[in-house]
Amino acid sequence: MIPFNKPYLTGKETQYIEEAVKSGKISGNGIFTQKCQQFFESNYGFKKALLTTSCTDALEMAAILINIKEGDEVIMPSYTFVSTANAFVLRGAKIVFADSMMNHPNMDATKIEALITSKTKAIVPVHYAGVACDMDVIMDLARKYDLFVVEDAAQAIDSYFTGKDGTKKALGSIGHLAAFSFHETKNIISGEGGMLVINDKQFINRAEIIWEKGTNRSSFFRGEVDKYGWVDIGSSFLPSEIVAAFLWAQLENLENIQKVRNQLWREYYLKLADWAKENEIELPQIPSYATNNAHMFFLKCKSIEQRTHIINKLKSKDTHPVFHYISLHSSPFYLDKHDNRVLPNTDVFTNTLLRLPLFYELDIQTVINQLLNIK
Ligand SMILES: *Cc1c(COP(=O)(O)O)cnc(C)c1O
Repeated sequence: MIPFNKPYLTGKETQYIEEAVKSGKISGNGIFTQKCQQFFESNYGFKKALLTTSCTDALEMAAILINIKEGDEVIMPSYTFVSTANAFVLRGAKIVFADSMMNHPNMDATKIEALITSKTKAIVPVHYAGVACDMDVIMDLARKYDLFVVEDAAQAIDSYFTGKDGTKKALGSIGHLAAFSFHETKNIISGEGGMLVINDKQFINRAEIIWEKGTNRSSFFRGEVDKYGWVDIGSSFLPSEIVAAFLWAQLENLENIQKVRNQLWREYYLKLADWAKENEIELPQIPSYATNNAHMFFLKCKSIEQRTHIINKLKSKDTHPVFHYISLHSSPFYLDKHDNRVLPNTDVFTNTLLRLPLFYELDIQTVINQLLNIK
């Protein structure tokens, strides 16, 4: 059986968890949490990193930090996970969906400006499959209209964007805020887990307060105040040291994990090229401004029928590819709540995108042979 995903363990996870447990400090913000946060800050140029219990929670923190209120509008792609939208809907925002690009599920940055109104508060680009959105265009719009940019970088660890000025920046280091996921389906994992990145320093103090249930506990432990109390809204957003210990074992192996995933990705790409062409299937395209972190290998099939056929054929061999999002603009919950209902490119990805198995220990040749033999 070849599953869609199999979480990869580096071997040190249980050892570090044992260390965390034996240290007697197993709640959040201990040594492993700080090691992980420092790793991200120093390797990716993030101003401040805070581990969270999930990317969903990091997005919710972002919505609180930029003071989203009833009636505010937030622009995002429709081809994304529910959490991207829920975080803002929970605070009363109305979601305005931008269409995907023709050749990639990422939102088409050239279509954003037409969606901006006096109520627009933020743009939330989702770097689908770890491939950068056009952040030059998005950041220019944010400056022009005084908007916040929250990157949904859930899938985008160790991926980069090169701007017009030639500088290469890590995804998650560009927007005012960014959210990452360490869910077991992502490249680097901790079971459930995530991270909020704060690049605009005006948000750092308040982010720590919201993270610590609305208290100034972090300042207290640094000795900046002599007692701590309730100073703002907040929730329980920080993970335990057990989760951070697991994540640390993964981070120590990040380079190797990324190397293996990239090799697998390239193997799919090279060995499926002719087959894809013959069958009018598009392989993933990486824009010149983006890098590939090999989070995902997807096919854009020529029709929903072709996709169903491929899924059935692979399943008959016990290999399990999966399609992805049912676009949010056509979801039962939000269908009647938004204005711009026509998103043709998004609909195409909903119907035709197929994700192939991609994980560290994948027997890729078997999957490739199965695909090449489909009649
Ligand atoms: C995985 C994912 C999320 C949610 O991440 P969790 O850590 O499971 O909350 C949000 N947005 C996108 C684009 C994702 O891929």
